[in-house]
Amino acid sequence: MSDKILEIEHLTVSFDGFKAITDLNFSLDFGELRVVIGPNGAGKTTFMDVITGKTKPTEGKVYFKGKDILPYREHEIAQMGIGRKFQTPRVYLKLTPRENLELSCVRHKNVWSVLRGKASSEERHTVNDLLETIGLTSRADIPAELLSHGEKQRLEIGMLVAQSPDLLLIDEPVAGLTDEETEAVGHLLMQLAETHSIMVIEHDMEFVRQIARKVTVLHQGTVLCEGSMDEIQNDPRVIEVYLGKEDEDH
Ligand code: ADP
Ligand code: MG
Repeated sequence: MSDKILEIEHLTVSFDGFKAITDLNFSLDFGELRVVIGPNGAGKTTFMDVITGKTKPTEGKVYFKGKDILPYREHEIAQMGIGRKFQTPRVYLKLTPRENLELSCVRHKNVWSVLRGKASSEERHTVNDLLETIGLTSRADIPAELLSHGEKQRLEIGMLVAQSPDLLLIDEPVAGLTDEETEAVGHLLMQLAETHSIMVIEHDMEFVRQIARKVTVLHQGTVLCEGSMDEIQNDPRVIEVYLGKEDEDH
C-alpha cells in the first residue's frame, strides 16, 4: 500500500464553467497533521467537499488509502473512514456532552437505549476517555447549550473522533473563538495528531503558527506553495496573495 493516506491528482471542479479548483495536486502522509490555508474563495471548502464526496470533480483523481473513492457516495466515503467537522458546531444542545459522545460512539445502535442510560461499560470507558481528551470532564453532564463556543467546538471534535475515522477533516475550528479557546483547540488537535491523520483548513494565522508542521497554501483553486510555516511566511507569492491581505479577509 502507498504511504499516503490521501492522494489528489489533477483535480478540477467547475461550477457552470467557473473553476473553483484547477489542476490541484496534493498528498497527505499517514499520521500527518496538515494545515491548508488560503484567502476567501481560494477553494478550500470545495476541496473538502470533493474529498468527502459531497461534490464530484469535473476532472482528476482522489485516492484514500490507495483506493479510488470517486465512484462512492458521501455516506460510503464516511464509512470508509473519512470524518468531517463542519465550521459551525452541530451538537445536540439539549443533550449533555456525555450523551452527545455516546450517540457518536454507537452510531448503529438505537438512540433510545443510549438516552435511557444503557450504553455498555466499554462505551462508557471510551466516552470518559474522550471527555478527558477534549477537556470536558467537569462539564460532562450539563446541557450542551450551556457550553461556550470553544467548548462546543471541542465537543464536536470529540464526536468526530468517537466515530474512529482514519482521516479527520476539520474546517476552520477556531473561527470566532477567544485566544484562550483557540489555544485549547490547538492543543487538542496536536494531541489527536499523535494517533490520527488530520487536515485542518484555517484562516487564523496565530493558530496556524501554533499547530502547523507543514502548510499548504491554496490560491485560485490550486496549490500556490507548500512548506513549513517559516517557509511559506517568507514566500513573496504568499505574502502577496494572502498574508499581506490578512486584515482585509476579516
Ligand atoms: P474557500 O472555502 O476557500 O473560501 P470555496 O471553496 O467556498 O472557497 O469557494 C471557491 C470558489 O468557488 C468561490 O469563488 C465560490 O464562490 C465558488 N463556489 C463554491 N461553491 C460553489 C457552487 N456550489 N456553485 C458555484 N460556485 C461555487
Ligand atoms: Mg470555506
